[in-house]
Amino acid sequence: MRAAIFDGVGKPLRCGTLPDPTPEGADVVVKVNRCGICGSDLHISEDPIFGVPAGAVLGHEYSGEVVAVGPEARRVRVGARVCVLPIRSCCQCPSCLIGEAAWCTGMSIVGGGYGQYTLAHESQCQLLPQTLSLADGALVEPLAVALHGVNVSGMVAGARVLVIGAGPIGLATAFWARRLGATTVAVTASSNRRAELARHLGATHFIDPAHCTPAEVNAALRGAPDIVFECVGKPGLIQKSVEHVRPRGTVVVLGLCTAPDTLSPFLTVTKEVRIQPAALYHMRDFQICADVLDSGDVAPQAMVTDTVSLTDLPTAFEQLKSRTHQCKVLVDPWRAG
Ligand SMILES: [Zn+2]
Ligand SMILES: [Zn+2]
Repeated sequence: MRAAIFDGVGKPLRCGTLPDPTPEGADVVVKVNRCGICGSDLHISEDPIFGVPAGAVLGHEYSGEVVAVGPEARRVRVGARVCVLPIRSCCQCPSCLIGEAAWCTGMSIVGGGYGQYTLAHESQCQLLPQTLSLADGALVEPLAVALHGVNVSGMVAGARVLVIGAGPIGLATAFWARRLGATTVAVTASSNRRAELARHLGATHFIDPAHCTPAEVNAALRGAPDIVFECVGKPGLIQKSVEHVRPRGTVVVLGLCTAPDTLSPFLTVTKEVRIQPAALYHMRDFQICADVLDSGDVAPQAMVTDTVSLTDLPTAFEQLKSRTHQCKVLVDPWRAG
């Protein structure tokens, strides 16, 4: 099969040929239909902190069709249309048994979506509704990240929300916050180029970065935000979130910053700000995202700005590391070219 292979930190992806996978145990082979390029894949290729070995195939936002199953697979059959929770886990501990593989002590994050076929354990597979396209199925993973973030925020209907960042996770967070009852959702980012997209996804306001002061945000939201979602992952932004949030409000940290950061304990403590990190998702989040897309709420499709072949993937991947007009780029590993 063809795949884009990771050759190590600091090196571009390389298109090559790998043996077709064969399923053992309760593993299944997924014929990948679409895989999203994620910001964390870009990080993995630049930062040794992730520890991904050379020779791996990245790509964890994928959907496809099951074309072979191992002898112990019971739940997933050949022909099933699935998206895949990209987490291998023990499948036996209390966390795994309730769909929380993300918090299994033996978990590891696995990719494989940048290849024509990949292996997954059947417990990782979320069956997709028959009426949902596999292209939409590839949006389930990033939507689930944001849904989990909104869930752990404790947001209630009527909330005022500020989202920092207008990448796919920031946009998806605005989508869920509005859909789950926030009355006002302001998005801000380092430029204005995603303003329209943010409104399309559900933001009520887009704050120009040149004027993103607490006074400006509070005027737009008609009060200080109850919850600030930090969806960028750069140093200084947790502090900025603390400055914006109302006293006793919540800052949800979805951005994955790998550099040391500073935070004013004085401001955080005196405002009694709750800082809530959010990473990954529950298996149930995958089902909810698939069902919401299937129900006809198609706004998240607007995040997809391009679909590329495996041949074009290494270039598209590098281009996403600098400021670009692209938002979510999908890979179709069967597309010629
Ligand atoms: Zn991702
Ligand atoms: Zn486990």
